[in-house]
Amino acid sequence: MHDSHIIHETHHVDPPASAAPHIQPRAGLEHRELRRDEFWRTIPAWAQVSAAEFGNHQWQQRHTITNARQLRETLGTLVPETFYADLEAGIAHAPMALRISPYLLALADWNAPLTDPIRTQFLPLRSQQEPDHPMLRFDSLNEREDSPVPGLTHRYPDKALFLPQPSCPVYCRFCTRSYAVGNDTEVVEKMKLSAGAARWDAAFAYIESQPQLEDIVISGGDTYNLKAEHIEQIGRRLLAMPNIRRIRYATKGLCVLPQKILTDSAWLDALTRVVELGRKLHKDVVVHSHFNHPNEITGFTEDALGRMTERGIVVRCQTVLQRGVNDTADVMTLLVRRLGYINVHPYYVYVHDMVPGVEDLRTPLHVAQNLERHVRGATAGFNTPAFVLDAPGGGGKRDVHTPDFYNRQTGVSAFTAPSVKAGKKFHFFDPISSLDDETRWRWSQPSHRRAMIDEAI
Ligand code: SF4
Repeated sequence: MHDSHIIHETHHVDPPASAAPHIQPRAGLEHRELRRDEFWRTIPAWAQVSAAEFGNHQWQQRHTITNARQLRETLGTLVPETFYADLEAGIAHAPMALRISPYLLALADWNAPLTDPIRTQFLPLRSQQEPDHPMLRFDSLNEREDSPVPGLTHRYPDKALFLPQPSCPVYCRFCTRSYAVGNDTEVVEKMKLSAGAARWDAAFAYIESQPQLEDIVISGGDTYNLKAEHIEQIGRRLLAMPNIRRIRYATKGLCVLPQKILTDSAWLDALTRVVELGRKLHKDVVVHSHFNHPNEITGFTEDALGRMTERGIVVRCQTVLQRGVNDTADVMTLLVRRLGYINVHPYYVYVHDMVPGVEDLRTPLHVAQNLERHVRGATAGFNTPAFVLDAPGGGGKRDVHTPDFYNRQTGVSAFTAPSVKAGKKFHFFDPISSLDDETRWRWSQPSHRRAMIDEAI
């Protein structure tokens, strides 16, 4: 027993506050301050929209913004003309199509559109884009190479990733699967993943044929975009397989459109039935969500998560670390504590993958290492996320503190993954813009580039 607060004297016991004078009773409670105001009314197009309309998932879906023209009609003069021109030029160079829900759009601070963390994640600006790192590869995680059947990635011995369909309720600029998710853009023609029964059957047959597989992630495209009957069909089919012990429905939806949990009862009921069936079969069925900034969590989110908690649905969160969004200790700590407060377990914080067209969002590895030091200890250990880097080339998730090699000057790090791909080294590269002038120049010279990589090999 190491509890230092246990006091053995019986004659005099100070109140707990004085035992820990550095903890102020009301300090550090910002994570509980969730917006419940009608924040959308500051958006010109939605000034007259009632709380009932804004709280309805069908209204949200009908008013989702998918191009610059709609954005201009919605925001009007809230932002200057130069912003729209910057955006249109940014879209022309972006790997992801534009799609943002009214809810998220209204949560952005349109007085500061250049730096707002929500705008930064979903609306590309040409003035902020940076050239890709010279070592970047499309599909940097090798998901297609590790695919025994289209739309199924099998990398870890006991776990596989199933992509049932290619659309999401939002398109994130930073999406790792920009090679397959969403509509084609001017710079990326997407791999075609049909949502058809034949492809699903091939994936199920493969999963059934692999006795070592126990864990299936049903992921993005987003499970929010699956119909209620498909949620149930996929869940029942997987739970019926003797080898499958765990399934996870991955969705960005709780962040983008929490209203669906509150007003689409058919979808939530279908999910609940799968969770309940899993419980009867002694199998684990959970939801993996994706929040990146504390501003994304509001009263709507709290109500939605309350509804899921009532139904015994466990929700975890996978966060993506992004420059200018959540790369400070204060923001990340607030996010982690706010997630814990609404019963979402912070599970992972990922270092931003090396994906094309979003170099401006990437951080160096040492930023993640430093954030981890600050966040650990801010709340209970089970609510503290693991900070990981998904090793480019298919090495899987590695703890950010465990590179076998890291040269902070060149920004080159190397990881090994003995249980995933024994004997192989996986390299990660900090963004060029984070390096000093001389090293930036060296990256522009192919011979120097080779030398910097060879040092890591
Ligand atoms: S919701 Fe997930 S899969 Fe969809 S675009 Fe965003 S990150 Fe990609």
